[in-house]
Amino acid sequence: MNAEIIAVGSELLTPQRIDTNSLFLTGELNNLGVEVTTKCVVGDDYERLADTVRRAIARSEIVLLSGGLGPTEDDVTREAVALALDRKLVFHPEISDQLEHRFRQTNRKMAEVNKRQAFIIAGAEILPNDRGTAPGQWIDESNVSIMLLPGPPHELKAMFTRQCLPRLERLVPKQVIRTLVMRVAGMAESDLDQAISPVYKKYSNPVTTILAADGDIQIHLRARCTSEAEARALLAEVAGPIELVLGDRIYSRNGEPLEVTVGELLKKRNATLAVAESCTGGLLAQRITTVPGSSNYFLGGFVTYTNRMKIDWLGVREETLLQHGAVSSETAEAMAVGVRRRAGSTFALSITGEAGPEPAENVPVGTVYVALANDTGCQVVHRQFLGDRARIRSFAAQMALDLLRKKCTQLAV
Ligand code: AMP
Ligand code: MG
Repeated sequence: MNAEIIAVGSELLTPQRIDTNSLFLTGELNNLGVEVTTKCVVGDDYERLADTVRRAIARSEIVLLSGGLGPTEDDVTREAVALALDRKLVFHPEISDQLEHRFRQTNRKMAEVNKRQAFIIAGAEILPNDRGTAPGQWIDESNVSIMLLPGPPHELKAMFTRQCLPRLERLVPKQVIRTLVMRVAGMAESDLDQAISPVYKKYSNPVTTILAADGDIQIHLRARCTSEAEARALLAEVAGPIELVLGDRIYSRNGEPLEVTVGELLKKRNATLAVAESCTGGLLAQRITTVPGSSNYFLGGFVTYTNRMKIDWLGVREETLLQHGAVSSETAEAMAVGVRRRAGSTFALSITGEAGPEPAENVPVGTVYVALANDTGCQVVHRQFLGDRARIRSFAAQMALDLLRKKCTQLAV
């Protein structure tokens, strides 16, 4: 079955507010095996909204609207849906009484406009709202189920979970949608696609999506099946050959980011880590410490931006900096070795590079050196990245984490 979500509210068309309700609803619908085929945001505009609803009910079996059920003139969802369905709005005195009672409980007097919330589309089922004033509505129109839900996320979530889910479970043929997420580091998106497309192109179910960002690629396999077991088997059937092709370039098979994988590898080895960062300014340490429990293996680090700090804090020799420059293989190595000595860690990572936008010291923008030191020595990797400052920094942190991952699993760099 297919669903369509319409988020109503002019504020959602500004940069200040985003529609998060549809993300929640999509997740819940997917769990039921319902695919969301379209979602949109419509401002508080009666005609436009009615038009959008007409189109939605002509092509989708489930239509959910969020927002626009407030008491004020700008909230037009009730009226617009009534117009689209050519149904009347009926005043329900019992809802009005309940609203008045709700106001009295907090020693307030209900404003006259709140009575607008007691209007229900003819033939609709009322979905009580114990977290707010706007009742929801469920309407069956031919073969389409239409839900009107309040905008505030805590009201919408409670109403959907308690009242819409049980109804949908009865309505929707039993289906499951399951997603398997593999993650790959250090590969270009086009190379990866070339390698795995012969596998996934053979299948229309699961659907394969490849998402790439800053040296990190996610492969999403989404299976629609009639049972959990069937979905698992189908995902394994497609994931197997992909794993064979990509091998150890896959660092995660459960969607977890690289810092989680690296953390697990360090923990398993009882190893510790310290970092020294220049151009990433703490980004690497930030990523490592997003993982709960990272204090078990992460000792800490230095952000040494100037030469002076590299010398004073890490023990980088002045001659090294003068002779080779701050962005060099030699400096990266001295930083990693220096921070490892000071922290007494098993491993140490360092990053030095030129993130731009202006080149410095005759070093082209995008030049990055990452060094990894342990008790057997120090390994330095040089890369030339393209892009803006944020992208270069993000690539650099990713590359450092992947270098450590490979070291821990003894893979060739
Ligand atoms: P409404 O029901 O349109 O009066 O919405 C009330 C409030 O709920 C708005 O001011 C927003 O802050 C919030 N809201 C409405 N729609 C959404 C949405 N799609 N996602 C997240 N928050 C929303
Ligand atoms: Mg609104």
